[in-house]
Amino acid sequence: MTQLQIHNPATGAMIAELRCDDDASVAAKTAAARAAQRAWQLVPMADKLAMVQRFRAMLSAELENLATTLTQEVGKPIAQSRNELNGLLPRIDFFLEQAEAAVRDQHVFDDAGMHEQIGHIPLGVVANISAWNYPYFVGCNVILPALLTGNTVLYKPSEYATLSGLHITRLLHASGVPANVLQCLVGAGAVGTALTQQRIDGVFFTGSHGTGARIAAQVAPRMIKLQLELGGKDPSYVRADADPRAAAESLADGAMYNTGQSCCSVERIYVHAAVYDAFVSHFLAAVEALRMGDPMDPATSVGALTRAPQLDLLQAQVDEALALGATLRCGGHRLPGPGNWFEPTVLTEVDHRMALMREESFGPIIGIQKVGSDDEAVALMNDSRYGLTAGIYSRDEARSRELLDQVNAGSVYWNCCDRVSPRLPWSGQGDSGIGLTLSTAGIQTFTRPKAWHLRQP
Ligand code: NDP
Repeated sequence: MTQLQIHNPATGAMIAELRCDDDASVAAKTAAARAAQRAWQLVPMADKLAMVQRFRAMLSAELENLATTLTQEVGKPIAQSRNELNGLLPRIDFFLEQAEAAVRDQHVFDDAGMHEQIGHIPLGVVANISAWNYPYFVGCNVILPALLTGNTVLYKPSEYATLSGLHITRLLHASGVPANVLQCLVGAGAVGTALTQQRIDGVFFTGSHGTGARIAAQVAPRMIKLQLELGGKDPSYVRADADPRAAAESLADGAMYNTGQSCCSVERIYVHAAVYDAFVSHFLAAVEALRMGDPMDPATSVGALTRAPQLDLLQAQVDEALALGATLRCGGHRLPGPGNWFEPTVLTEVDHRMALMREESFGPIIGIQKVGSDDEAVALMNDSRYGLTAGIYSRDEARSRELLDQVNAGSVYWNCCDRVSPRLPWSGQGDSGIGLTLSTAGIQTFTRPKAWHLRQP
């Protein structure tokens, strides 16, 4: 078995070394998950809910320890690690409140001795291949509803967030979930590949479009459920009637929060000429006020990048934009090591020839483009292979609704951005993926419908 070394991305120091799974252990864990599934399905919903309730209590009690590991492992500012864990609690509450009703039998017809009902049965054994940027959100969006609806789960956290993945697994086991019902797989992409080759009933993947497309090709002939939550190039448009200062403050946060490493980070901004100068000046003031530094310092708002290779991608996007005529308004460079550091960066005079405005950046860099009309803004927002989220800042709700209706995105925002709600479905269009998590549909997605036709003799 090979070893997985975990490094702190802020300092480069090795913080842990773990034994990886291999093909044989992945196969053995899959067999154990299969053997455990039927008995788990038969555990009453009330007992499963009680386990998740205990998980919530333990997570809350251990929050500081979990936040510290998360920050040390992914470079996220400690205040934002605490926010992620605190934000998980209402998500858990949503699953606790909704799971039973979401999969209750529906009686749809009863007449002359003929009865019809719809049941929701678990998929069976599901794989959750997860991303590192929000390991608690992204992991639990799948693990909790999958378990509550009677599936057994093989969970492979990203190699960049394995310690947090092991914490989630440990706490669920301590809450009463049997060891073979939820199993954690340790390792990098090769372990994920081994997992998707097993006899499983569903793959729930969160990550990049490239990896998602490879997984889709691997599992396509097997007719199993596949969900892909992939990247984005999320646009926001500031209309002529918007408050430029309020919009700038909101969008600077949406672009730079989590050091720009959110699937729904604001990745490109279009601003009407009427408010452009005021917006840019407020935006720069907001970005310059951000404090970049030691992720363990509670005052830090921009941390280290989790993955070192992202530094080259960000530098290439900035350099290409500048070569094509963009203006650098702040930042623009990686910082000398140790650790993975890139300055918060703002570029103006940008356009869609530049990868900065077309391809996911996933870091603290943003382009701001001036537009002359609502129609131009909508056309530019839709000029993307992605479609995860999009937003408009404006005082006019009716006009904003009309424009957002024309934008290709799974989630749309009016006067807000970078926001996820457990009550609403989280899904993407185009290369942002297929399927959904969250909302009651994101609970039912871990089941398949079974149609019952029952005639009295
Ligand atoms: P990756 O695609 O690199 O990895 C995602 C997961 O897949 C990891 O666990 C990875 O393992 C694993 N993996 C890698 N190669 C394979 C393979 N061949 N077969 C099976 N599994 C494999 O993405 P990142 O982790 O870098 O995540 C960032 C991306 O995720 C961004 O594009 C972001 O937008 C997107 N994202 C989307 C969200 C959404 O809700 N739409 C939410 C969060 C992120 P390992 O890391 O160990 O190599």
